[in-house]
Amino acid sequence: MFLKSRNAVVTGSTSGIGLAIATALAAEGANIMINGFGDAAAVETERAKIEADHGVRCVYNGADMSKPAEIAAMIKDAETRLGSVDVLVNNAGIQFVSPIEDFPVEKWDQIIAINLSSAFHAIRAATPGMKARKWGRIVNTASAHSLVASPFKAAYVTAKHGLAGLSKTVALELATFGVTSNCISPGYVWTPLVEKQIPDTMKARNMTKEQVINDVLLTAQPTKQFVTVDQVAALAVYLCSDAAAQITGANISMDGGWTAA
Ligand code: NAD
Repeated sequence: MFLKSRNAVVTGSTSGIGLAIATALAAEGANIMINGFGDAAAVETERAKIEADHGVRCVYNGADMSKPAEIAAMIKDAETRLGSVDVLVNNAGIQFVSPIEDFPVEKWDQIIAINLSSAFHAIRAATPGMKARKWGRIVNTASAHSLVASPFKAAYVTAKHGLAGLSKTVALELATFGVTSNCISPGYVWTPLVEKQIPDTMKARNMTKEQVINDVLLTAQPTKQFVTVDQVAALAVYLCSDAAAQITGANISMDGGWTAA
């Protein structure tokens, strides 16, 4: 329970990796602000479950990560309702798969806003409090696509490379304030985000669903297995520990060997 008395904001935590990270931080005693879209009743069930299972406070803010003012207001809301933002996990993200010449301009703008700019706005708003308290943990969910590219993912690959750069810059700026800033870069994790891109990848590559899973997704990962959300969450928790106090500016891969190739 090493995060007892700490407060964490996890963006995009109504589903997938973010929900697993929020739950794992709560299991270590942190109070949590969850964020993300979804059916109101389902979100409330998740929020109440985190509180009941872990004996922490869990509040919800539905800020849209493509809207800078809503992001700044979300950090303020966490500071008001929880008391501080000690851990910030920038995790919200979406994907869109298309050849570059057909890539919808609005999809490019949306992915850059949600997958990259939202982290800037949240870090910008949370940094004064972290600096003043001389403790903080910023964890950014990047991707193997922060290190290498794949065709048909122009906006996503660009945003994730940018997120890795932002994470390093922040690490340098906050290094003497007890605040670390790191990226986690998973390979393919079986979540709705991956499931939803299969039909478009089938179209873009003229493949069946099985071919996309085996010949596009798992072919990238030498272990031939998907990463699990719990494995990603365990790394996020570790980065919040005292043992990880000297890890900052790192981009830690969890990709079954993908980027070693
Ligand atoms: P997911 O679709 O299960 O979850 C995405 C979350 O982001 C949801 O809670 C959703 O409501 C939220 N979200 C989307 N748009 C939002 C917006 N405008 N404002 C607020 N919240 C918004 O996906 P996931 O796979 O858990 O992805 C989480 C992160 O992990 C993303 O940044 C993704 O790029 C990254 N990632 C995923 C994989 C993978 O294989 N699944 C691999 C590497 C990195």
